[in-house]
Amino acid sequence: MEFQNKIALITGSSSGIGLAIAKNLASKGVNIVINGLRSDIELEAICLSISTEYGVRCVHSRANMLVPDQIRKMIFDIISEFKFIDILVNNAGIQFVSPIEDFPDDKFNEIIAINLTSSFHTIKAVLPSMKAFRKGRIINIASAHALIASPFKSAYVAAKHGLAGLTKAVALEVAEYGITCNAICPGYVWTPLVQKQIPETMKSRHMSEEQVINTILLSAQPTKKFVTAHEVASLASYLCSDDAGSITGSLIPIDGGWTAH
Ligand code: NAD
Repeated sequence: MEFQNKIALITGSSSGIGLAIAKNLASKGVNIVINGLRSDIELEAICLSISTEYGVRCVHSRANMLVPDQIRKMIFDIISEFKFIDILVNNAGIQFVSPIEDFPDDKFNEIIAINLTSSFHTIKAVLPSMKAFRKGRIINIASAHALIASPFKSAYVAAKHGLAGLTKAVALEVAEYGITCNAICPGYVWTPLVQKQIPETMKSRHMSEEQVINTILLSAQPTKKFVTAHEVASLASYLCSDDAGSITGSLIPIDGGWTAH
């Protein structure tokens, strides 16, 4: 019952981890706002499949996380329509792999803007109503790279470490308002984001695809398995539950033991 009629905004939820979180929350009765850069027709199809399968409302926004005005308008429109946002999941993210001396300036800025700064804008826009109602859940999808670094991922590691700091600062600011703010720190999850970085990593490290998968990705994780999007989504749903009310300001690894090294 605790999830029924709640409303969740998940940024970057048109694929991968974000879509898995949207479906997991919808399966518990949460109404969903899908966001992503895909076409209106594709986003409508995702919403239709979620609302049909789980019997919840599902709407979508194509707000670009690079554009603060579009982020603010998205939040304003959702609050106008649904009155409140119970759950905010900052999930949109991109990756680019390159030695730092060749790292394109615009790519560095874009990664910081999408993977870090967009979360500042969404949180800033939702907090006034969460504080007024004295409830809310904020989950930032960070990464194992919020806790440790890897070479050739300077922008991503910087953005995710920044997101870890933002998570802790927000948690402290809202701790007495019944609002929690946590970061989930996944290891490698087999999604389009990971698939896309394989050719770049092959180039940076002079390796074959098989070598990248086995010696870079899976060798990082003692379990030698990819984390699944479903596992990340289950953890996100737990953090949204009443039982998780005392978990705040936490950076929670879900990485097959990677950061235990
Ligand atoms: P994905 O490529 O499937 O999902 C990324 C989502 O972000 C997509 O829906 C895309 O449309 C959206 N997006 C990208 N740029 C956007 C923009 N400018 N505006 C709005 N939406 C935008 O990849 P994923 O692996 O599911 O990644 C989701 C999150 O999980 C990211 O923050 C990523 O850093 C994080 N993460 C992924 C892994 C992994 O191994 N896949 C590990 C740790 C953390």
